[in-house]
This record gives sequence, structure tokens and C-alpha cells, in this order.
Amino acid sequence: MPMLSVRDLTVSYGRLEAVRGVSFSVEAGQIVALIGSNGAGKSTTLKALIGLVPPASGQILLDGRDITRAAPAARVHAGIALSPEGRRLFGRMSVQDNLLAGAHGVGSRAVVRRMLDDIYALFPQVRERRSQLAGSLSGGEQQMVAIGRALMANPRLLMLDEPSLGIAPKIVAEIAGAIERINREKNMAIVLVEQNARLALRLSHRAYALEHGEIIRSGKGAELLADPFVQKAYLGV
Ligand code: ATP
Repeated sequence: MPMLSVRDLTVSYGRLEAVRGVSFSVEAGQIVALIGSNGAGKSTTLKALIGLVPPASGQILLDGRDITRAAPAARVHAGIALSPEGRRLFGRMSVQDNLLAGAHGVGSRAVVRRMLDDIYALFPQVRERRSQLAGSLSGGEQQMVAIGRALMANPRLLMLDEPSLGIAPKIVAEIAGAIERINREKNMAIVLVEQNARLALRLSHRAYALEHGEIIRSGKGAELLADPFVQKAYLGV
């Protein structure tokens, strides 16, 4: 059974169907990429998965359990975490307090300490800046904090919305490396939403291309990288 199954998901904003009949699944330990241009419905899909927008129809199953109507906090508790587009940090709080804000329902201080140490090991420059205001960090560093905050919920399924957006290429490579390490070392499943299709397809085991709310292509990351349509539409080949 897949860890996550999305079946025929439709999400509407008024009369606009932003997501139309989308179906995909995520196996334990897999990186699954959702690619597509601006407004294709990628963020809306993630928001529906975490419970920030209600689906008009369809089903979301986590470990076979229907969570389509569950509250966001219940989904986080069940093991899903989202690092949202635009990072959404508390700019006037310290980096470490931003990370701690992600530790929902993690009871013991020792566990919180260990998770913080894990994140600092993953992103050493975040450790160096842990006492600084989050708003004073570079975009790339803020992105690391946003990913770290999602990790503090100790998820089994991590969803990342545009982690490379507006970030210098060198830092993008660092973040990509961190995504691979999180997946490999923690065997964590990851849903990666990216406009940087090349990056996402390289990192992912499986990928889906969305256009106007619909999946128009799917396959292994490597297969989509070699697909002439995908190359023309998303890779600038
Ligand atoms: P982007 O990378 O630009 O966020 P996306 O693929 O993530 O693109 P969505 O943000 O999911 O796309 O948007 C899908 C469609 O829904 C777009 O047409 C967008 O304008 C619309 N939309 C998104 N959020 C809202 C909202 N809160 N209210 C109304 N329409 C919205």
C-alpha cells in the first residue's frame, strides 16, 4: 500500500477549478516531484494535502486511512509536514525559535534537542545563525530554516513548495543535497513542488507534470528528463 494516495482530487476557488481530477501516489522512502508552470495547480495540491484548502471532490489516503476532511493539525500529527512557498518565517523571531515553532506536539525536551541538532547538522550555517532574527538571513538560509521547521514536526512525508525559488544557484545545490540526504538518511518520503523542473526531475524517483490543474505526464524522473515534450515545455531544450 502506498504511504499517500491521492485519488481524483479536485479543488476549486469559486468557479476556477485549480486542480482537476488529480491522482498520484507516494511510496515510503520516495521523492515524488510535481512540476509545471505558474498557476498549474501545484501549490493548491499541497495545500489540499495538508488541509489548508478543502477539496471539492476526491480522496486523500495516508497509509490507507482517509484524511480528506481531517484538520491540518491532525494531518501533521499523522506525519505530514509542509514547508510552504515563500517560506513564511517569523521574521522578528530568532532562527531557533522559528525551528521550535515547528515542534508541534513533540513532548520531550530531549527529543526536541536531538531534532534541532539533526537540523543543524544538515544545515551548519543555520546553526551559526541560530540566535539571529530569521528576517535578517539570506533567502537561501531562510529556505533552510523553513525546511528545518517542517522537519521539527518529525514527519514521515515532507512536502516542499518551491524550495529553490529566488535562491542563488550555489545555495540551490546545497538545498538539493540536503533534500537527498533527508530522503536517504531518514528514509523520508518527499513531495517536491518545483518550477525548476530539471532540478526536481533529477532528484525525484517519480514525477508528475501538471498543466491547468491536470496531470499531463508522469513517469520516473529520468524518463521525464528524456521525454521530448517535457524537454520542450519545461527544460528549455
Ligand atoms: P505557483 O508556482 O505560481 O504557485 P502553482 O502551480 O502552485 O503555481 P497554484 O498556486 O496552485 O499554482 O494556482 C492554481 C490556480 O489557482 C491559479 O490559476 C491561481 O491563480 C489560482 N489560485 C491560487 N490560489 C488562489 C486563491 N487563494 N484564490 C483564488 N484563486 C487562487
